[in-house]
Amino acid sequence: MIIGGWQKNSFIDYPGKISCVLFFSGCNFKCPHCYNPDLARGKPAHILEEHRVYDFLERRKVFLDGVVLSGGEPTLNKDLFDLCAKIKKLGYPIKLDTNGSRPQMIAGLLAEGLIDYIAMDIKTDPWNYSPLIQQKCDPEQIFTSIKIIMQSGIAYEFRTTCIKPLVDENVVERIAQRIKGSRLYALQQFKNFGVLQPEFFEHNNCKYDHNELMHLKSVAEPWVQKCIVR
Ligand code: SF4
Repeated sequence: MIIGGWQKNSFIDYPGKISCVLFFSGCNFKCPHCYNPDLARGKPAHILEEHRVYDFLERRKVFLDGVVLSGGEPTLNKDLFDLCAKIKKLGYPIKLDTNGSRPQMIAGLLAEGLIDYIAMDIKTDPWNYSPLIQQKCDPEQIFTSIKIIMQSGIAYEFRTTCIKPLVDENVVERIAQRIKGSRLYALQQFKNFGVLQPEFFEHNNCKYDHNELMHLKSVAEPWVQKCIVR
């Protein structure tokens, strides 16, 4: 397990909490819009020693209320169980950011009570992940993660970064139907800055403007408890 960086204090990554965000190195996806290309490629600029994380969390108990596991894709690491157990022992709730490709890991972490909040990205219609998001993606893994998360009983959200042509109103409707009844679905605005596959965006107008995003929101809204644009 390689922790490729951290943000010591964040006010936005864990809803309602001041959190420390840990970024894990390595990912099994290659999303064109990935904002952490070095981490996704498994080539972080720095490597953070685990004991520094625990020391810091121990000292910051008064100020921090939570820890976010982000990436890269945290669930690729089997050692995550051990890391989560140590963080929980320090008294912190944990939020997991995941691409949903490892449903067994998500189920295992939930079964052991190691996760308190899950944010899962749904990149586009899971039937269309191959080959752009992952060379060979099994959509059933994504669907299983969705099911596990919705039945988990903990706080969660699904989120989609809105990029043309990966996401359009038909895709948003299919995703919203798949996560029918979910407590929160966030449609995220795309920022073309330091992405993993810049060539993907060279000749395309990929960005949705505010009105278009509000339209996508109106498409998703009937299917979920709450839909937001962020
Ligand atoms: S956006 Fe997330 S899932 Fe996609 S390549 Fe980057 S780290 Fe992996």
